Amino acid sequence: MKLKIINGTLITPYRYIRNGTVLIEDGIIVGIEARDVDFPDADVIDAGGHYIAPGFIDIHIHGGGGYDFMDGSVEAFLGIAETHAKYGTTALVPTTLTSEKADLLETLDLYEKANGLNANGAQFLGMHLEGPYFALSQRGAQDPRYIRNPDPAEYEEVLAYSSSITRWSAAPELPGAIDFGKRLRQKGILAAVAHTDAIYEEVLDAFENGYTLATHLYSAMSGVTRRNAFRYAGTIESAFLLDMDVEIIADGVHLPAPLLKLIYKIKGADRIALITDAMRAAGMPEGESTLGSLKNGLKVIVEDGVAKLPDRTSFAGSVSTADRLVRTMVQIADVSLLDAVRMASLTPARIMGVDQRKGSLVAGKDADIVIFDQNISVQKTIVKGKVIYNNAI
Ligand SMILES: [Zn+2]
Repeated sequence: MKLKIINGTLITPYRYIRNGTVLIEDGIIVGIEARDVDFPDADVIDAGGHYIAPGFIDIHIHGGGGYDFMDGSVEAFLGIAETHAKYGTTALVPTTLTSEKADLLETLDLYEKANGLNANGAQFLGMHLEGPYFALSQRGAQDPRYIRNPDPAEYEEVLAYSSSITRWSAAPELPGAIDFGKRLRQKGILAAVAHTDAIYEEVLDAFENGYTLATHLYSAMSGVTRRNAFRYAGTIESAFLLDMDVEIIADGVHLPAPLLKLIYKIKGADRIALITDAMRAAGMPEGESTLGSLKNGLKVIVEDGVAKLPDRTSFAGSVSTADRLVRTMVQIADVSLLDAVRMASLTPARIMGVDQRKGSLVAGKDADIVIFDQNISVQKTIVKGKVIYNNAI
């Protein structure tokens, strides 16, 4: 099984290689060349002068194509993976919402089943549990009925139940949250600060005990606060000050251009992951939708490229796709295409600990590749050397 991709500008993403060639064998990149070379018996893809980049890696995503990962079906997992593949995503981390434990365990079961059947979608990189250990005051769209403090009896049961959890988001100021972070670190699970009112001292403590990522920076987290006369740095300032990774919903709506520029200026491309945090309406026409589960989720309206509460007082989820994240960073945040791609590929791969095999176009890594045009409109998506989306068909 040999494949050669020719006639495009490679984004490695350390540099551009114009008129470059990618050689693939058995799903692995075996060569990156600055010209067309002989590769006997290989199928050939002509990139038509477009960009050839590492596939996008979305480490925080709830749904798309009309499905949510908590719908309780394998079909939902596969539908989301296939929907986002059309927009250049080659790997993603399915994310849960705060919910009852039974629903959570069922979703973990379904992950295992879906993972074995996922032949035509973006690959799964393990599950991200978003909640339920959050600050009520920063719950955002998370259901307050299920929000609680970390309880070892509960999380040990969940951790013992599934080996597929690779990331868990929690508020670090809650009683028991530091022990929770230590436990996640011990298990090799990425802990992230999220939906939190923590001040700097609490975030620092958390950072030293396993929490190395800030979940959707600026959304559902504390900034500077005053207690009596005194000011305190919040989670946002802490994420800037510490060597913490951050992820941002770069749909161009959740964060305006000046904040995108500020985050990029301070953290740089190797500390920022672009995420969709997409709900089920991603990749669907605008109109009415449901945030979270179909049986007890929240009615929302999708317009202006974002989901809103019906009274339009607040956003209620993103409907972004990965191509839009890259486009936003280039077009409204004035970031170079190299860095925008890097924040959608290599950096998220490194944050999830899969950068030995994913995230860049180098020999030895999985052939997860996206081909897109000047407007970052996706032409082809390739996972492990297999074309899973082709715009031309
Ligand atoms: Zn989320």
